[in-house]
Amino acid sequence: MSAGGRLQTGPTGRDGRAPSPLRRAPTRRQLETVYGALLEQHGEQQWWPTASQDDEAQRLEICLGAILTQNTAWRGAAAALERLAAADRMSCEALLDCPHDVLGDLVRPSGHFRVKARKLQAFAQVVIDEYGGSVDALLDGDAEVVRARLLEIWGIGPETADAITLYAARQPTFVVDAYSFRLFERLDLAPGERKYETYRRFFMDRVGADVWRLNEWHALIVRHGQQICRRSDPRCDECALLRRCPYGRAALGLATVAKRP
Ligand code: SF4
Repeated sequence: MSAGGRLQTGPTGRDGRAPSPLRRAPTRRQLETVYGALLEQHGEQQWWPTASQDDEAQRLEICLGAILTQNTAWRGAAAALERLAAADRMSCEALLDCPHDVLGDLVRPSGHFRVKARKLQAFAQVVIDEYGGSVDALLDGDAEVVRARLLEIWGIGPETADAITLYAARQPTFVVDAYSFRLFERLDLAPGERKYETYRRFFMDRVGADVWRLNEWHALIVRHGQQICRRSDPRCDECALLRRCPYGRAALGLATVAKRP
């Protein structure tokens, strides 16, 4: 059963509200406590799900999926990937050869399908023109090098670049998204302003360069944001973080705990 009704926001748990500059940044221990609770609630996520078998095909599929899932649920992106595979369009050459309207129709389940078709073709064009058609060449190098290359491609912003860097290149970075902002603001553990790079740097500094751990962090945050800490009607009474969450406790009319995790 979910909390239901309109949430009574507490003094520190309001969505979108910048934390006071005087409050302490969350500690590593606090972050570890959050991670442990999410892991206990949801188990290991082991992202990224792919249907392709060989490594380079999997990396391409992750790149395309990261573009297709922009501003949409994974379900829609996965359906678009299935349609691309069924139409034999899962290669950079085949994507570029595909007439724009046909490609748009194939990726229609991912939403914003015309612009996403353009983004897929922009990505494929760069791989072919600048990396000899090799996704592995695009993804070769350390995290900052790969990330910077990706950010130069039209249609790829920081969240998509970090998803590709972490899950396709398997290089350490933290993927920030709307679920991260919401969760840490509600927990009163926001590291600062709601800015992508503020969060990314903060978590990179504290989580470290463990790719597996960074992979799980993002996957767990997404799972929690989709299933439990939903934007409207969060299921606070089922949440493993309730004891430590001012927002959830206010929503359920519970006393606030004195100590943060
Ligand atoms: S108790 Fe859990 S679900 Fe509710 S606001 Fe806090 S973190 Fe989100």
